[in-house]
Amino acid sequence: MASVTVKQLKKAFGSVVAVNEVDLEMNDREFVVLVGPSGCGKTTILRIIAGLETATSGEVYIGETMVNDMAPKDRDIAMVFQNYALYPHMTVYDNLAFAMRLRKFPGTEIDRRIQEVSSTLGLENLLHRRPKELSGGQQQRVALGRAIIREPQVFLMDEPLSNLDAKLRVQMRAELSRLHNRLKTTTIYVTHDQVEAMTLADRIVVMKDGVINQYDTPLNVYQNPVNRFVAGFIGSPPMNFIDGTIISKGDGNLFFQCPGLKLPVSVGHVSALTLNLNREVILGLRPDALLLDPGKGNVAAPGLCKSEVDVVEPLGSETLLYVKLKNQEVIVAKVDCTCTLKPGENVVLVVDMDKAHYFDRSTEQALL
Ligand code: ATP
Repeated sequence: MASVTVKQLKKAFGSVVAVNEVDLEMNDREFVVLVGPSGCGKTTILRIIAGLETATSGEVYIGETMVNDMAPKDRDIAMVFQNYALYPHMTVYDNLAFAMRLRKFPGTEIDRRIQEVSSTLGLENLLHRRPKELSGGQQQRVALGRAIIREPQVFLMDEPLSNLDAKLRVQMRAELSRLHNRLKTTTIYVTHDQVEAMTLADRIVVMKDGVINQYDTPLNVYQNPVNRFVAGFIGSPPMNFIDGTIISKGDGNLFFQCPGLKLPVSVGHVSALTLNLNREVILGLRPDALLLDPGKGNVAAPGLCKSEVDVVEPLGSETLLYVKLKNQEVIVAKVDCTCTLKPGENVVLVVDMDKAHYFDRSTEQALL
């Protein structure tokens, strides 16, 4: 096992800068997930670490060794791809044995490792089959097995679950977690799925346009997003954003105001926002910061948002309520599943302003 470090990594394809001077340190045994929208450069970083792509500039280290000029086969990494890349004419056993045979491992050692890995991944009864005789989930297990069996220093995984159906994906996600807890091999995992990132990662790298926006634990990325992009990318349904202004009545209390809405800034946020008095900001509210008002708006209380139901999505355990604000923007609230509201009805939401996020309107950086 080993740490992986990239320094000032840059990759340009002609005029397209896919990775722009990225610095990243991934600790030994860590599970790091690179996440971001399509085209943000995550696969390119992974391929450069694997040696499948050459960096335009910058350095890659595995452990203490600079590997820029080292062939992929000498880097002691194993890669798992989205398309599994199994050899179709070989049995599962031969697929698993392939890399070890190339490295001239003795047959008994190959056999021992295959028994061990196939029992870990539940492949014991499939060893004689060819890939086309396996389901997608089974093929994915073989692809994982082929990576594990080599006992590499680092696993590189590029969207390994994206070809699986939703249920299998959740199951394999848990298996990957379990496997990492057991093997503790340093893992760098690429996905555009923020749920996978949140559930698997020790630390998440959120990327956009070839640049790292935030590198932190899942909880910190969720609770303290550094900018509007990260806030909107991590979390499902995504954070609501409302444009408005910070105002004061002169008594030390601050309010967030936009057409038809005036919300009191929570005491804990006042000192940070005083600097932004009378400035245009973006208020960020996660769907669970919006609750149905038990008083139905009859009791005058600060932090109420009167609006109209647009769409109702019952999910079983909870209901997503899309409501239209006076300025015609639609925001989403995650409310109790017993909610019986219908589209077109009036609704009063209580906004939990302690959970509010604020962003500068021009830079979109977090203000708290
Ligand atoms: P996805 O989730 O869609 O795979 P990604 O974040 O992994 O996206 P990359 O595959 O790393 O993104 O691509 C980053 C950028 O580099 C994109 O704009 C892409 O079009 C470009 N790019 C990647 N490979 C090449 C190539 N071989 N030639 C030209 N441009 C490339």
